[in-house]
Amino acid sequence: MIAKIAGFISLLMTYSPVSKAMTEQGVDHLCFGIGMFLGCVITLSLGLYLNRHYRIKYHKMLRQFKFAKSNARIAEQAMNTLAKEQEDSQDLLEERVQERTLELNIALQELESANQELERKNVLDELTGLHNRRFYDQKILAEYRRSRRNLTALSLVLIDIDHFKLVNDMHGHLAGDQCLIWLAKHIQQSLKRSADKAFRYGGEEFCLILPNSDAQGALLVAEQLRLQLCEQVFQFQNIDIALTISCGICTYHQQADIGPEQIFSGADKALYQAKHNGRNQTQQYTFIE
Ligand code: GH3
Ligand code: MG
Ligand code: MG
Repeated sequence: MIAKIAGFISLLMTYSPVSKAMTEQGVDHLCFGIGMFLGCVITLSLGLYLNRHYRIKYHKMLRQFKFAKSNARIAEQAMNTLAKEQEDSQDLLEERVQERTLELNIALQELESANQELERKNVLDELTGLHNRRFYDQKILAEYRRSRRNLTALSLVLIDIDHFKLVNDMHGHLAGDQCLIWLAKHIQQSLKRSADKAFRYGGEEFCLILPNSDAQGALLVAEQLRLQLCEQVFQFQNIDIALTISCGICTYHQQADIGPEQIFSGADKALYQAKHNGRNQTQQYTFIE
């Protein structure tokens, strides 16, 4: 192509008036110059083209880069938000777990104290606050076994109010109830040792389990209580009500074929004897060996 242009230019030069003045060497120089010029034009065009091409590419990549950067920023923000929300929900969860644990502990404590209260009520007589018959049954068996193991004496004292029906009949049932409470207090106070236990066996009948107490010791406890009651007067609505009790004692010394029932039965026989002999007294039952 360049050669064609050069040929065309030399043809022009041949017929133009200027060409006549030119030498052959001058034509060569002109062709070289034009060739150089065209080369420069082509190089420049190529350069401009490449420049434009890469500038477009560069802008395209820059746009992509900016887009990617903004996406990365959005992703980072989302991750931060997520992390924060996770942290918040973790805190909330921990807080709720703590609250629930606390509530659970309180409920457990309440349950435990309710159970303890129930257990306490289970072994106590509601009216007098002394131990009840249910607890007597457990305790006499336990003390009987201990007595056999340790070869120690075990005494049982049955206490029955004399003519208690009269108290109810003359002063009313409420007076009778108050009388039972009053007597229970005296019975409780009559116990000297921590192992000694007082029970309301039923109605107006009470009993004492005296571990490690022989007949003499049991007689002392029963008589002290009986005599003390003789000196005291129970008052109900400013009315003095005199009370006496009868007691029956039975003492276990590892006699053969004797169990808790026989010990109770012995004390009951002694009590019956006390009533039969005129009340307000203590009698003892002795096993025939
Ligand atoms: P004694 O024992 O001396 O033979 O005569 P008593 O009058 O005490 O005879 P008994 O044992 O037969 O009567 C007991 C009375 O105790 C009968 C009942 O009305 C009364 N009683 C039993 N339990 C209670 C109670 O919880 N409250 C009241 N107020 N009275 C009761
Ligand atoms: Mg009775
Ligand atoms: Mg009685």
